[in-house]
Amino acid sequence: ETPQEKFTFQAEISRLLHILSESLYQNREITVRELVSNASDALDKLRHAALTDTDIDASDLLISIEPNKDEHQLVIRDNGIGMTRDELVQNLGTIAHSGSLEFIEKLQKSDTKDDVSLIGQFGVGFYSAFMLAERVEVRTRSYSEEQGWVWESTGDGSFTISEPAEKLERGTEIRLHLKKDLGEFTDPARLKYILRKYSTFVPHPINVDGEHINDQPPIWVEPKSSVTEEQYQNFFEYLTHFPGQKAQWHLHLTADSPFQFHSILYCPDANLERMGFGKSDHGLHLCAKRILVQNDNRDLLPDYLRFLRGIVDSADLPLNVSREALQDNTVFRKMQKVITKKVLDHLDTIASDDSAAYGKFYGEFGSVLREGIGEDFDNRDRLAKLLRFKSTNTSAEDGLASLAGYCERAPEDQKQIYFATGADETSILRDPNLEIFRERNLEVLLLTDPVDEYVLSTLGEFDEHKLVPIDSADLELPGSEAKDSETDDEKKEDEKDAADLPNGFGTVLSIFKEALGDQVEDVRKSERLTESACCLVNAKGAQSTTMQKVLQVNMP
Ligand code: ADP
Ligand code: MG
Repeated sequence: ETPQEKFTFQAEISRLLHILSESLYQNREITVRELVSNASDALDKLRHAALTDTDIDASDLLISIEPNKDEHQLVIRDNGIGMTRDELVQNLGTIAHSGSLEFIEKLQKSDTKDDVSLIGQFGVGFYSAFMLAERVEVRTRSYSEEQGWVWESTGDGSFTISEPAEKLERGTEIRLHLKKDLGEFTDPARLKYILRKYSTFVPHPINVDGEHINDQPPIWVEPKSSVTEEQYQNFFEYLTHFPGQKAQWHLHLTADSPFQFHSILYCPDANLERMGFGKSDHGLHLCAKRILVQNDNRDLLPDYLRFLRGIVDSADLPLNVSREALQDNTVFRKMQKVITKKVLDHLDTIASDDSAAYGKFYGEFGSVLREGIGEDFDNRDRLAKLLRFKSTNTSAEDGLASLAGYCERAPEDQKQIYFATGADETSILRDPNLEIFRERNLEVLLLTDPVDEYVLSTLGEFDEHKLVPIDSADLELPGSEAKDSETDDEKKEDEKDAADLPNGFGTVLSIFKEALGDQVEDVRKSERLTESACCLVNAKGAQSTTMQKVLQVNMP
């Protein structure tokens, strides 16, 4: 028997272990992910050390998962850097990062399950071992020493360190003495499933019972030119757990500043939100050095690009940026800016190169994208260019008009962009307000979704053209004076005109005024109409008819 030395965990670790042992947290799979991630880090570190020390043999690096059903144990082994005795005490007994301490405090206060899955981000992933095990043994030998050590704990506030009876190989073996009801973690099929889910793209071979299970190359760090369409497609299916689903397009990004990252973003074929999936079922896979940290990160994309799926892998996150900064939204915000810009660039390219493909994209996701007009002030102008509408000019841009296309087609002295709103295209086209536009061959955008009208009123103008509903009193037509204007002078003119009208038109107007009473502000002669006898227009500055309807419906 070799002497055993007993140590007490730092108070925060004891607290964390208490939380983990009490936790009813369902997703115990993350323990496997965390221990494999540590093994992978240990291999990375060894490889790094071998760069300067040629005595180190960094060939045949391997992560080995050894389930043992009879002993009710799970072993995770690596031939990486290993730990000295001091490192064991330091790394598996104290917490270095202040962010981790805050995380533990937060965990203690809340009972949200999600928080536990963040454990790996806060430099305390190792302790998740106690979610699976009632006793954990760590046998390790540092690459720098001949002497190995055994660390052992039942997670009750203390751990012991002793010399092993046998000589240890270089690297670390984590032996989990599994809790009674967790026999599933000795099932190779279950373990392979978990590893494929979380660790397929770990950059070192992972064996389960001797079988190599992660042969997929990490395509996002490869140069674009070496990745085949089939690989992109396979990876999309892997990410979405949605076999057979095609992506409309993908975007493979590599950036060095302000952050180093690799990313592949996919636009799905169909809008899952419209298929009844919740708005919350989204997010990107966030990797640090190819190891999945989070599989539904929502901070890397603005809400209006939430339909994108994909992966972002940044070595900057764990190495150059502190763990605390991972929590710090500004890091994500900066990355989000870069990614958003690249996506909008890509959409611009599709829109100008292939308007049919863009039309298909817009048909599925336009309703989400346009939310950006109200959300993303910095990119509002770029987003405005990406909007598409039905139009009275059906030959325009594959039947979908852009605001830029509209302005190009409009007569030079047209200062406004006209739009008409209604429940559907047919009823909009029946609107008598359209007559003058038809007669004068002026294009009108047809908005059947009240949100589009909201979007346009948020936008206000495009390329120095005011966006105006056709039933607005603010309307100005090119090449003529304003019609139905409400300036006092013109009003007097109108009245004079009316009085001069033949067949007693002035009398007709007064009869209407009297009959309609308070229901209208005024009844006037109009030059908007060519066929219909009368039409309703909105007072200057008033909401459009559709908008009023929307608001009425939503009133209690
Ligand atoms: P993190 O990996 O984020 O640092 P963990 O709680 O997962 O936090 O691990 C704590 C530390 O324990 C690691 O930083 C590392 O120094 C050490 N460690 C854990 N597992 C291994 C291993 N398999 N080989 C070598 N060192 C390890
Ligand atoms: Mg770790």
